[in-house]
Amino acid sequence: MVDRTHNPSRRRFLGGLAVLGAAPLAGRLEALPQVHHNRWSGDHFDEGHDRLRNPRAWWEQLAAQGRTQNVEGLFDVIIIGGGISGLTVAYRLARRNPHLRLLLLEREKETGGVSKSENWNGIEYSIGAAYMVNPEPPEDDDPEHPSQERLNLDLLIELGLREEEEELEACNDKQRRWATHHNHVVFTRQRVLNDEEVLTAENVRFFETVAESDRFPSIPPEDPWLVQKLDTISFQEFLRNSDLQRELYGLAVGEIPPAGWESIEYYFWGAFGTNTWETSAYHGLNFYAAEFTRLLVFPGGNAFIAKRLTERIRSIDERLISTGSYVLLAEPAAGEQGQRYWQVKVERRQGGSRGYLYRTRAVVFASPIFLAKRMLPSLPLEQMQALEQLDYRSFVVANVLLTPPMREIFGESTILHSYEMQRAQGTDPRHHPPDVLSQRNVFSDVVNATFAVCSERQPHTILTVYRPYPYAAGRELLRYLTYEYVEAEIRKAVLEAYGAHGLKPEHIHEIRLARWGHPMIIPRPGQLAGGLMELCRRGQPGLFFSHTDIFGAPAIENALAAAHAAVRDVETYLGRSEAARRDAVSLSRTCPTGQSST
Ligand SMILES: Cc1cc2nc3c(=O)[nH]c(=O)nc-3n(C[C@H](O)[C@H](O)[C@H](O)COP(=O)(O)OP(=O)(O)OC[C@H]3O[C@@H](n4cnc5c(N)ncnc54)[C@H](O)[C@@H]3O)c2cc1C
Repeated sequence: MVDRTHNPSRRRFLGGLAVLGAAPLAGRLEALPQVHHNRWSGDHFDEGHDRLRNPRAWWEQLAAQGRTQNVEGLFDVIIIGGGISGLTVAYRLARRNPHLRLLLLEREKETGGVSKSENWNGIEYSIGAAYMVNPEPPEDDDPEHPSQERLNLDLLIELGLREEEEELEACNDKQRRWATHHNHVVFTRQRVLNDEEVLTAENVRFFETVAESDRFPSIPPEDPWLVQKLDTISFQEFLRNSDLQRELYGLAVGEIPPAGWESIEYYFWGAFGTNTWETSAYHGLNFYAAEFTRLLVFPGGNAFIAKRLTERIRSIDERLISTGSYVLLAEPAAGEQGQRYWQVKVERRQGGSRGYLYRTRAVVFASPIFLAKRMLPSLPLEQMQALEQLDYRSFVVANVLLTPPMREIFGESTILHSYEMQRAQGTDPRHHPPDVLSQRNVFSDVVNATFAVCSERQPHTILTVYRPYPYAAGRELLRYLTYEYVEAEIRKAVLEAYGAHGLKPEHIHEIRLARWGHPMIIPRPGQLAGGLMELCRRGQPGLFFSHTDIFGAPAIENALAAAHAAVRDVETYLGRSEAARRDAVSLSRTCPTGQSST
């Protein structure tokens, strides 16, 4: 058996083959409902542009038509955005502070943001984020100052999604599983590559050492010296600089085989929508080295976590989440006695559009950070200019629904037992422009969508295919490409890639597409080290940011780190303003004029 321990993979896109069940193909095709799912899921490309081009004018138009109203009372916290980050803030604040008046506003009908899933014949498949790095807290974790990993693990345990100690390597009934390097393959049209053809033992040892090192580039960044060393160069420069590798980690990565360069490059497309030469070495190493640990995979990907968070929040109080609530603006205001609060203006579409004005003591902005330029007009000019410098890449996630079970399609045991697959084509991506390569390599990788619930037991197979647009014009292109065009492109690429491995056109029942407009913030070198990200996420009294973007890279760990920080900051702020209010009350009791006795 081939040892695939050393095959690299990438972290974010997971594509997916889902291995579904058994039963011979004949007779199954007719038995399946022929759902016609010919529509994009994911982002609505035009809604955002219509509203957020000029949100104030949009609101004033509603007001002029007499379709706005004030919502009664003062909220303590309003969270704008119901992705993993906003949901985590809402859940933790609600659990820890039952007295607070909270509300989470989400523009879509469903929560989850980029971590959403859909279902086919009872099988969940991801239309966005697929997995997280398994949180493994250091043994000497300080209970007074828990590490991010400890906080993440505690959250998962509280949600019933992990136990403190558990083995998740094998298939079981837990609805979760670890994927390791053993479950990653790199394959060509003809065969699955051996480990050493992709990364040598020396290469692997290097990344494993980084993953275990005290100098692992953490999020949030804790060591400014390391940030200066790594965030000021690209990942490609880092891989070529053996002196720096030795200085930081005591060993060097060594010679990387051509297929290794190719797979690293496609990993970056999938994880960031970027090339290694435009990506910060800090973020690149944070993502790529973590691939050499264990990944935690749920059915339908990280949507599983988002759904559990949503259920738990709703079980605290059904009214804490309001979906279909499009936030247009959030602005500071002052009451008659000078007390500060925030006004949040929201459009809701139930039987026609209506505007609702909320008042709240604190706002948590948990939407993609570039939207802050439009939705938070009180940000200072320098912050607006900083936000203007951020750039994003776009994405299609295609779920290929296959009627036979995995084992009836693929002969190779390596493919059968893999979670994540990446195709190598013998090209060196460093020598071609990304738009040209993107045409040639339509997907960055593919994941087995039923890995977490054990492919062998499933009657069907789903491959989740990640199709990034790793170049600036990708989003515009994606706006105009038709569903049929992209579907045909994916069908052709998947059949080409897997044809010799057993996949036939008649196996494909349907292809379902999700497109994402701005999901991937580009982690350019210098954004952390030069203070750009810090400036972009700078709050104001009563305003806090919580989104994966605020650390400059797209990962659930960043979304969670942002949420933990926001919860702490909001509690401190409300605690302080509560104290200020109490003081004001006691002062006014002692001095009826409201003046201090001093
Ligand atoms: C294709 C793809 C695959 C990925 N795969 C992985 C992966 O495998 N592992 C991983 O760790 N990360 C992955 N990521 C990164 C992913 O972005 C994060 O993991 C995480 O889901 C981000 O969560 P978030 O809450 O920070 O942001 P989002 O998911 O962006 O949530 C923001 C929310 O704000 C809402 N919103 C926006 N505007 C408004 C408004 N005006 N009013 C109200 N609500 C609004 C949005 O609808 C959304 O629900 C992937 C991303 C993509 C695009």
